[in-house]
Amino acid sequence: MKQFRNTVIRAGLSALYFSGAHVLLRPIFAGVGAIFMLHHVRPRGDAAFQPNHHLEIAPEFLRQMLIHLRSRGIDIIGMDEVHRRLIERDFSRRFASFTLDDGYRDNRDFALPVMREFDAPFTLFVTTDFADGTGRLWWIALEMAIARAPSIEITIGTPCRLDTATTAAKQAAFDRLHETLRGLPEYALRREMTDLCARHGVDDATICRNLCMSWDELKPFAADPLVTIGSHAVSHCNLAVQDEESVTSELTASRARIEDVLQRPVVHLAYPYGDRAAAGPREFASADAAGYSTAVTTRPGMVFPENAGHLTALPRVSLNGNYQDARILPVLTSGAATAMWNGFRRVDAA
Ligand SMILES: [Zn+2]
Repeated sequence: MKQFRNTVIRAGLSALYFSGAHVLLRPIFAGVGAIFMLHHVRPRGDAAFQPNHHLEIAPEFLRQMLIHLRSRGIDIIGMDEVHRRLIERDFSRRFASFTLDDGYRDNRDFALPVMREFDAPFTLFVTTDFADGTGRLWWIALEMAIARAPSIEITIGTPCRLDTATTAAKQAAFDRLHETLRGLPEYALRREMTDLCARHGVDDATICRNLCMSWDELKPFAADPLVTIGSHAVSHCNLAVQDEESVTSELTASRARIEDVLQRPVVHLAYPYGDRAAAGPREFASADAAGYSTAVTTRPGMVFPENAGHLTALPRVSLNGNYQDARILPVLTSGAATAMWNGFRRVDAA
């Protein structure tokens, strides 16, 4: 199903490109700018089974995007400036803002050098448990467990065994488990993943230290004039399934910790997962109450002047590893693709 969806999206993006429709749609759907969402930036690995591949782009694709934006005269700005333009209604020039979630070390090793080539500012959203080295990147642990096992035993709901012998079976099992696990409250997710990792010999405690920057690494990174640091909560839990007290604590404690260690104000937030099932009106209000000046979701969309009234529910445009084709760049910046996904609604903040 997921493969089918990817194929349809890719076909849609190609159709928009080859028909030229994105050029006609640009004045209507391009909005005043775009906030791009990235996760890993690194050269592609060669494993056949890469279920998290949508969360990574190659440095060269990032470079092509920056070349495209510069050639169009689109301003590349940080989130402070996005906030200023929205509240002052300064829409004389279109903008793009780059945001990178989770705090991966490859952001320093591969994204930062490319961003420097273009003198392009960007925002890194730090999950404090990841910087502490105590977080759990369960989607990667799940990938590792499935990659090495011919079958996976699951205990969520009715216990059953999923075949994971072939790449296709691995992908299907991953999609099914990922969907289920993501909807669990943090304590239940941790319990399931601890069991699963133990059964399949995955040391999930080391994943975060292997992939994410520690505080000592974040200090010099944060000091780079191109970098803004924002919060991506404490534990990277699905906020929408946590109780209210825990949501407040995730949003305030992460901010306080980053400000304390990195000695800079933290006024921007990215909701973990950030889709409709993980961030809704309650979370938008919490972010507001916690004092964030902006908060970004993963709801697809361009930024429109109306978003000034919903600063803690800003949409983003994913630079998705499954669609790394330079020809789609004008489609992404035209807003035509996200408009289609949104059923041609301009603002989605409910
Ligand atoms: Zn994240």
